[in-house]
Amino acid sequence: MSHLFDLAGKTAIVTGANTGLGQGIALALADAGAAVSLVGRSAPDETVEKIKAMGGACCTVKADLSSVDAIDDIITATRDQLGGLDILVNNAGIIQRNDAIDFTMEEWDSVLNVNLRTVFFLSQAFARACVDASQGGKIINIASMLSYRGGIRVPSYTASKSGLMGLTRALANEWAGKGINVNAIAPGYFATNNTAALQADPKRSAEILGRIPAGRWGQPKELGGAAVFLASDASDYVHGTTLPVDGGWLSR
Ligand code: NAP
Repeated sequence: MSHLFDLAGKTAIVTGANTGLGQGIALALADAGAAVSLVGRSAPDETVEKIKAMGGACCTVKADLSSVDAIDDIITATRDQLGGLDILVNNAGIIQRNDAIDFTMEEWDSVLNVNLRTVFFLSQAFARACVDASQGGKIINIASMLSYRGGIRVPSYTASKSGLMGLTRALANEWAGKGINVNAIAPGYFATNNTAALQADPKRSAEILGRIPAGRWGQPKELGGAAVFLASDASDYVHGTTLPVDGGWLSR
């Protein structure tokens, strides 16, 4: 069965791969044999070091994903440096916390731009490249528990992640017939920069842990298996789904 999950000879783009979940996903894809293009605004030195230590291949592409300006460069630089384009993981994302009554346009637009607008146009560029090359591809969007629930004091984040789950279905409907699988992973509560404020707040942290059946925060490497599955031949007939990796949170 192991060949089903083998990514040798495949090239993957992972956005926001310098830290957190993106780093965990990039390392898992590299471990399964993929060459990984690490895309983001901060230098992913630690991720590069870890991939090299495991004997993997990678390249880096500097890009600020708050605008769509870098999209052509991401596609071209990845193909030029790694020689192909098979997998896109839309991981980079931000969150802004404020009462909805006081929420500013900047807090709204900044989140929607990174979490949804750039994701759509990068996915479109990736799909066009797949079609031009007469090949299929795998797109994996990183959704959230707030793709399912409303959350508190994070209206733009909830809108973006709920929209991302819908976009995953919409793109799957159009691109499944082209051999492009579009799916998402919905992480539960993972210990990263994104959740630092929650982890540091004893009341919120206790509330969150109290409703996670697994009884603990997730670790970034624990998203790796779901990412490898959705990036590999093992998921060839899986389209438009969002796979929760949440320690059971949604089941409560
Ligand atoms: P994180 O540690 O804050 O990482 C976010 C990543 O996105 C970083 O690499 C960051 O780069 C990058 N990024 C943000 N804005 C960017 C921009 N304008 N241009 C380029 N890169 C940008 O958070 P994380 O928890 O790993 O989050 C990764 C994804 O998982 C996000 O989409 C998040 O919404 C989602 N998620 C996380 C959790 C969780 O519990 N942690 C749960 C559900 C969903 P910099 O380091 O340069 O800022």
